[in-house]
Amino acid sequence: MRVPPLPRALVAGAARGAGRLSKRLGQGGGTSIPGLILTRLRPQATAEMALAVPNGVVLVSGTNGKTTTARLVRAALDASGAKVASNTAGANLERGVATALLHADGADVALFEADEAVLPKLIEQTRPRVVTLMNLFRDQLDRFGELEHLADRWQRAVAGLDPSCAVVYNADDPAVAEIAAAHPKTVSYGIDDPRAGRDRLPHAADSNRCRRCGVPLAYDLATIAHLGRWSCPECGLRRVQPDVRATRVELHGLGGQRLSMSTPEGAVELSLRLPGMHNSYNALAATATAWALGLDGEVTGPAMAKREAAFGRAERIQIGAVDVITLLAKNPAGANENLRTMLLEDRSLQSLQARGPGSGATHLQAMQPEDRSLHALVLLNDRTADGQDVSWIWDVDYELLLAGDRLASLTVGGDRAYDMALRFRYAGVDSSKLSVVPGVPAALDAALEAARPAGKLYALPTYTALLELRAVLAGRGLAPAFWEDQ
Ligand SMILES: [Zn+2]
Repeated sequence: MRVPPLPRALVAGAARGAGRLSKRLGQGGGTSIPGLILTRLRPQATAEMALAVPNGVVLVSGTNGKTTTARLVRAALDASGAKVASNTAGANLERGVATALLHADGADVALFEADEAVLPKLIEQTRPRVVTLMNLFRDQLDRFGELEHLADRWQRAVAGLDPSCAVVYNADDPAVAEIAAAHPKTVSYGIDDPRAGRDRLPHAADSNRCRRCGVPLAYDLATIAHLGRWSCPECGLRRVQPDVRATRVELHGLGGQRLSMSTPEGAVELSLRLPGMHNSYNALAATATAWALGLDGEVTGPAMAKREAAFGRAERIQIGAVDVITLLAKNPAGANENLRTMLLEDRSLQSLQARGPGSGATHLQAMQPEDRSLHALVLLNDRTADGQDVSWIWDVDYELLLAGDRLASLTVGGDRAYDMALRFRYAGVDSSKLSVVPGVPAALDAALEAARPAGKLYALPTYTALLELRAVLAGRGLAPAFWEDQ
């Protein structure tokens, strides 16, 4: 016998109550449990609630950058005066979205960052007004299967979209561009500054074959991993000139960046507090999404400019006299961008930033030996949210840390601390500088001790290690708990 679903109001009330209870019991912020209960008891609840949001749903998805991009779009929507419902950072599965919709009463518009594997389901459930497709990088392959499989699922999901839905997409990602191009209503974005890239693909590039004919793509500009100005020598498929494009990217280390953009409304200058070229892409994605939503660029640009980095994305915390900078590093493309940002911050790498990792070593070697100021804490976990296969660490250019002989201390921790230590031994790190401390709290203490009295410590954690690190800092009163961050 099939049990009919419970009435929506009853289920919603019970689910909200469970969230409050969870928070009171210290079991997290209640960002997912209410939605989990709700969708178990009434599977159609997400679709019903999404339909009730007057100005519709915006979904932002991709392997890298969705949290930051959603925050930038949120800033743009807030500045336009809209009442926005959105999910908290990381609560980006179906249950997190359902929880956010439970609290969406009175909202004009709903904005959700969507896990890339869950995006097709969320498209089906929420019938979005705008979908922003950012990128597909190799990440957590054991959870998602091959990139191609994920791309195929995105393709089917996009084919099922209502023609009136706007698809905002990264023209520089060949797979994403091929998926989006079939849709009738699109807004594309990309980077067109020749100084922002290199003329060859770095080895972390993971999606560099034509999805139509399987031959390797050619690039006349490669920016991050497989992103860039690509073309297929076989079938002629090529990157289009983006609707929103960065004509100049000026990176200023951790201090942020300045972007000159060309948009359908004319030229836009944007100064951001967010570092690195990965954030240039996030800002382009957010600008294109705001434009697709019909928001006024004069209002949304300054609002985005004020946004600080999201939790763990180039976040700075002062511990005593030590400046701790946390940079989430969960896959090769993201980790390489963080290393480049970090070294750029340490005022040595303007030319490395412009020409790519392979070209930076000589420049750094010219530095004075007394400028040995780099302290690093690398935390590697292998839990479900990190991906259990940690072989990706061999695709990261950790050798960059050694350039110029400036690395003063390196502490490795997390569940797979010994794999990480092995990686660094192969990179050539001197054993006298390397400490292996598996537990996250103890690893943090060891790294701080090495950086004292007044150094700069870069923490590079994987996702769950970041949550642990944040919990340790929150427990010591040094940072807010992660679910309070939005
Ligand atoms: Zn082709």
